[in-house]
Amino acid sequence: MSECIFCKIVAGEIPSKKIYEDSEFFAFLDIFPAGRGHTLVIPKAHHEDIHSLPEELYGSLAKVAKRVADLLQDKLHSEGTTIFQMNRESGWQTVFHIHMHVIPRWSGDALHKPWDIKPADEAELASLHQLLSE
Ligand code: 5GP
Ligand code: ZN
Repeated sequence: MSECIFCKIVAGEIPSKKIYEDSEFFAFLDIFPAGRGHTLVIPKAHHEDIHSLPEELYGSLAKVAKRVADLLQDKLHSEGTTIFQMNRESGWQTVFHIHMHVIPRWSGDALHKPWDIKPADEAELASLHQLLSE
């Protein structure tokens, strides 16, 4: 855990551009931003991902992400907001201390949806629905 860069940021051992802090959460500017104002919101306690995090803490993390999203919108006059939250290597997570990406958006900015838009196979949807709702 002591090797976790986000724990080091919380501890002040690695410098960061903090934009929000309370007793449980910390938010700071991403150093490889997807766009202007891209901010990471993290719990101060070390938890790896959504699956290992207590449900209530995830709820509180989302609440702080909303607060940060509002702050960014107010100060940067952004037109929209995109939230990303990656989990585990297969889910594109690269820093294994859970975090939410809060990305202010403007029409025509450089961000693209990370998936191709194509219709679902109806039979696959039906069987998935059955599996997931039983
Ligand atoms: P992930 O890929 O795990 O969802 O996101 C990790 C994010 O952390 C990336 O967007 C990356 O740019 C950011 N990041 C990695 N190292 C540092 C750092 O030392 N300082 C800051 N501010 N951001 C970092
Ligand atoms: Zn950590």
